[in-house]
Amino acid sequence: MPPAKLTQPLTKERPGAKHHKMLIDGEWVASSTGEETAVHSPVTGEIIGYVPVPSPQDVDRAVKSSRAAFEKFRQWGPFDRAQLTHRIAQSIDKRIEELARMSTLESGKPYTAEAIGCVTESAENFRIAAEDVKRQESPIIPARDPNKRIYTFYRPYGVWVCITPWNFPTLIPSELLGPGIASGNTIIFKPSEYTPITGLLFSEIIQDADLPPGVLNCLPGAGPTVGDQLITHPGVDAIGFIGSDRTGLMISQRAGLKHKLLEMGGNGPTIILDDANLEKAAELTAFGCFYDSGQVCCATERILVSQRVYPEFKERMVDQARKIVLGDPFDPATTMGPLCNEMTAAKMDRHLADAVKLGGKVLFGGKRATGFPTNLYYEPTVIADVPEGALIHSEESFGPLAAMLQVDSDDELIRIANSGKYGLQMGLFTSSLKRTMYFADRLKTGNLVVNDSTDYWEPHVPFGGGGGTVSGHGRIGGKYTLQNMVYLNTIVIDYANTR
Ligand code: NAD
Repeated sequence: MPPAKLTQPLTKERPGAKHHKMLIDGEWVASSTGEETAVHSPVTGEIIGYVPVPSPQDVDRAVKSSRAAFEKFRQWGPFDRAQLTHRIAQSIDKRIEELARMSTLESGKPYTAEAIGCVTESAENFRIAAEDVKRQESPIIPARDPNKRIYTFYRPYGVWVCITPWNFPTLIPSELLGPGIASGNTIIFKPSEYTPITGLLFSEIIQDADLPPGVLNCLPGAGPTVGDQLITHPGVDAIGFIGSDRTGLMISQRAGLKHKLLEMGGNGPTIILDDANLEKAAELTAFGCFYDSGQVCCATERILVSQRVYPEFKERMVDQARKIVLGDPFDPATTMGPLCNEMTAAKMDRHLADAVKLGGKVLFGGKRATGFPTNLYYEPTVIADVPEGALIHSEESFGPLAAMLQVDSDDELIRIANSGKYGLQMGLFTSSLKRTMYFADRLKTGNLVVNDSTDYWEPHVPFGGGGGTVSGHGRIGGKYTLQNMVYLNTIVIDYANTR
């Protein structure tokens, strides 16, 4: 079944919509059953192409191909793998516009303001992995017995299944695929069912860098079917998953003791203290709320504001929302496109209705915009006085939303920021170093950004969930991902008994 992307019926096919194939063992193949599913664009509502629906036999074939490829690929040295990974980055560089166009069409991300940069950074992730793998030193451990030497080596886990979301359809996969390939693993990549064509195109571009067959296989398909068959397959050694905590939990339970790298969601609180530069704080907080229509794991979702500056900050946030240009994501002037799918838009509706019911006051926006080709274009929304207990405080809203609450003391700010199950990336605006450290030592989060947006991100920086939260296990980001995709293998040699 095609995913339910839009509420209105969809029948129109976009001119040039193609029937795509999937990548198994270096070949582009249809499903063994011949089944396909249509992919719809949130931008236009049209069918933009068709992708194969892999059968259980296709899944099995992909795993066998990855296993066979691993036996050869594991013999490659790090410098050869680094060269291959650099070639992949060059292959991406040559087709940035094409990838960005498809990613905009499938996800709604503005082409000029966002998609081009995301694809460019995707190539950078391969470059970083290529360089990191050449410098991945492993320790020599002192032994008690002087005749013994204890060496350690980083070894690839083997066959990885990498399952990714739709919000960054090349950038997030590149965070796993770059380090995964550079470190000698083989990978079965399952892109989101909302952005499968971008995933297949990305795989084609990677394969074009002369990848040995089976080092990368790419199967589109739904999570509960193809995704589940992959993670439970006995031929799979490890799972890289980036997506919601609900799916992450399911994967943990279904995949048992396979090694896992899991990165999940957040509901990024940003704290505005009364000594902050309010002009900068409003500008950067708004960026965190509205970049990619708020569909970012580290988006700013709730804004906790010190009492004394609350009235001024509210006005500043409305001014910022007014500057957003909602429209056709292919228009260079557009700063915000449609939401990717109906599920996300419906969640925005639900969270806003809940906040208003509990006393929240909509200061700007607050509903789906009219006059667009689909009903997924959402007004940038500013809502004040959203009380604790509202869904916005406990769930991930994942939409263009600036939800504010006035808070009376620093300790109350910390308590509310730490409430709930998430702890991915938080924001803090202050001019006091002393207060920065007070908050930094008490906030339960994987990452804290002081005086910048919660969307602040660089590809080599460690990123992931804080302890005791559901936001993730392990770290993504440059050498930290690489570290999670290999295991330390210890070799003890008693050389007294050697020749
Ligand atoms: P999702 O969890 O619905 O889906 C993610 C992927 O999991 C998709 O490819 C989907 O097909 C697959 N999947 C779904 N059910 C499955 C199952 N039962 N077995 C195996 N695979 C299954 O998430 P989404 O809506 O695509 O993405 C949005 C979420 O991703 C948000 O929660 C966001 O915060 C999170 N995210 C996290 C990061 C990060 O680095 N921490 C980055 C981007 C997005």
